[in-house]
Amino acid sequence: MSQPQLWRFHGGLKLDPRTAGPAGEPIGLVPVPKRLVLPLSQHVGQPAEPVVSPGERVLKGQPIARPGGYIGAKVHASSSGTVVEIADHAVPHPSGLAAPCIVIETDGLDEAWSGYEPVPEFASLSAADLRARVRAAGVVGLGGAAFPTAVKLGAGSGLKLLILNGAECEPYICCDELLLRERPESVLTGAQVLLQALEIDRCCIAVEDDKPRAREALENAIAAMGESRIEVVAVPAIYPEGGERQLIKVLTGEEVPARGVPPDIGYLCQNVGTAAAVARAVLHGEPLISRIVTVTGGGVVRPRNLEVRLGTPMADLVQACGGYTEGADHLLMGGAMMGFPLAEDSLPVIKATNCVVVASREEIRPRQPAMPCIRCGEGAEICPAQLLPQQLYWHARAGELDQLDEFHLFDCIECGCCDVVCPSQLPLTQYFRYAKTELWARDRDRIRSDLARERFEARQERLEAEQAARKRRLEEKTRAAEKTRGDEAARKALIDDALERVQARRARDEDAEGNDDAGSGR
Ligand code: SF4
Ligand code: SF4
Repeated sequence: MSQPQLWRFHGGLKLDPRTAGPAGEPIGLVPVPKRLVLPLSQHVGQPAEPVVSPGERVLKGQPIARPGGYIGAKVHASSSGTVVEIADHAVPHPSGLAAPCIVIETDGLDEAWSGYEPVPEFASLSAADLRARVRAAGVVGLGGAAFPTAVKLGAGSGLKLLILNGAECEPYICCDELLLRERPESVLTGAQVLLQALEIDRCCIAVEDDKPRAREALENAIAAMGESRIEVVAVPAIYPEGGERQLIKVLTGEEVPARGVPPDIGYLCQNVGTAAAVARAVLHGEPLISRIVTVTGGGVVRPRNLEVRLGTPMADLVQACGGYTEGADHLLMGGAMMGFPLAEDSLPVIKATNCVVVASREEIRPRQPAMPCIRCGEGAEICPAQLLPQQLYWHARAGELDQLDEFHLFDCIECGCCDVVCPSQLPLTQYFRYAKTELWARDRDRIRSDLARERFEARQERLEAEQAARKRRLEEKTRAAEKTRGDEAARKALIDDALERVQARRARDEDAEGNDDAGSGR
């Protein structure tokens, strides 16, 4: 393998990957549960809208909810059974709030729906057709972000490189490594489909340099397929290299502009798991109904990676890993850096669930009490987004939202690096998440009040236009009536004239007759 030149992104941390346990085990399977709870919002964008009703029988792979908008994704039944409820349920989300879900009681038959046509010879399909098939299959980014893949595929023209991200996001997660080791062909076929959908001919798969088995499996599969458009690049294992912006910097030396997206500079990133899901969708007509999840941590007996149906309770995953250890303390979804706590193990696996950490008490030490900021600047040194975390912290704490925008809060990828190095133990990322929520809420309120004002102004304009039209019609009627009255008077004058002339003629005739009679002596 010839290794191209690499660059270094600003900051970042060398972290213990903590994947030794699960990475040593093959991918296992979790049995179909008795109940599947499928949230309508498992992705970035508008929640999906149900297309089934309680009492309806559904088959595995059948669409049960359609996209709620352009930025949205379908939801499919992940096994056959009966829809028993469409209602709010607890879902895995940092807010901890309940959200609408479709609940299916499975029938154990796992009977498949055959509505999507498999296309093994996908070379005959156009880019638009491929995007439509990916959208129909409900594929979203499986790296954790869950952005609808079809929308991303339509994001730009004139791209120069497809980047498949095989660099795990953070410690504990190794689902992508296992996918690359066990199913490299599915990732490569997905890459081929994506290249065709983007109408480009260069793809680079980035894998961390501490995962030689994954790279070897990929390289062997590339050689067996005789595929010259795809190359594998080993990148240094520095957190958070799994971030799109950081990975693009490392591979190309280029920076995605602030508030911009990778297609702005000619690149499109997809996770390797997403590529495999695209291959399944197009070649086999299989929608996204399962994913690989790393189940790990000191609180689970046998950490491993599992292929899991979406909607399966997390407790079933722990069960498939031998159950809880005595030291099990709490659950996280995601990795050690960006993961968030889960209130209970009955929460369902969703499209964004790449990892479930069952943490033991010793493993993740509770945060020490926060102390005042000492302005050491450590956070700025380490920040991969080149922000000033201490400035952001002060303004977030003071509720100065406008200043946060000036300091590019929305470029913060919430990687948590600044939290790790902060000697004052300040929960900086929590402040940034909260401030973003506040800014979004303020934007939403502003949009709502702008809409209300626009609606009011439009109504005023309409009323004024209606009033003016009414006035115009009245004036026209008045003019017409006056004209009619004028016409009648003129006609009457003409008639009077004519009558006068008739009377005058008669009078003249009678006079003439009288004169004749007198003349003839009658
Ligand atoms: S690292 Fe912590 S203490 Fe140091 S400047 Fe940043 S916020 Fe302040
Ligand atoms: S959490 Fe945000 S501010 Fe802190 S290091 Fe990461 S990107 Fe920078």
